Amino acid sequence: MKKFKIQICLLGYQRYLDKIEKLQKYSSKLFEITNCIEIKQLPSCDLEWGYSDKCICQLLTSSKIDNNSVDLCLCFIDSPIECNYFTRDLSLFDSKTVLCSFYQVESIFNEENVDIFNYIHGIVLKEIVQVAALHEVNEDYFLHDDTRNCLFDMCGLKRDIAIKYGMPSLCPSCIAKIESTAVDKEFVPLLNKEFKSFKKLLFYRIIDFVKRKPLLSITITVISTIMMNVLSSFLFELLKSLF
Ligand SMILES: [Zn+2]
Repeated sequence: MKKFKIQICLLGYQRYLDKIEKLQKYSSKLFEITNCIEIKQLPSCDLEWGYSDKCICQLLTSSKIDNNSVDLCLCFIDSPIECNYFTRDLSLFDSKTVLCSFYQVESIFNEENVDIFNYIHGIVLKEIVQVAALHEVNEDYFLHDDTRNCLFDMCGLKRDIAIKYGMPSLCPSCIAKIESTAVDKEFVPLLNKEFKSFKKLLFYRIIDFVKRKPLLSITITVISTIMMNVLSSFLFELLKSLF
């Protein structure tokens, strides 16, 4: 299956350059990052402290952003965007460009111990599903209002973004919509395989386990402490008999 070619466009100051660099080096069977453009200076905000779709489209046009050689263009910005969404399809510019905001993501993800890289990687997968199925970005085709731990959860409650990208998946209805189009047969299995890479660090998985099952955690701690004591006593006696 051919890999989807993605252009990254960084708008203004970027706090998560290390995550963007990680994405550029990421080895995927579904996509490849072909280049990364930086537009360092932004115009004045036109929506309080944020930006409208129109303002960003004008910026991309004046910066001569060319998407002819790619399947998708992801623009990352650290400010609020129209309707305080996480992502906006920039259909005023073209059918391949998506604006992605980091605004409020860090505080939600930190609370749930989710890596910001999940957000970037998850957006990539969500957008390539649309390009693969519809040959354009059109999130509205898949979005559903309720939270199903699916790539196309609307996240009207913004904190649900940590569920959506913590360990993402596709709900049966979205899978049916994808499979009703002429996508490559390998596409959904490869996508499911890539979801498995969205693991939390071991440290945070242990914390989550303790929060979820405190009694079992205490039992495991007590049993392992007793076993460690028995083992250390046995080793001590063994060493004493040898020397
Ligand atoms: Zn879904």
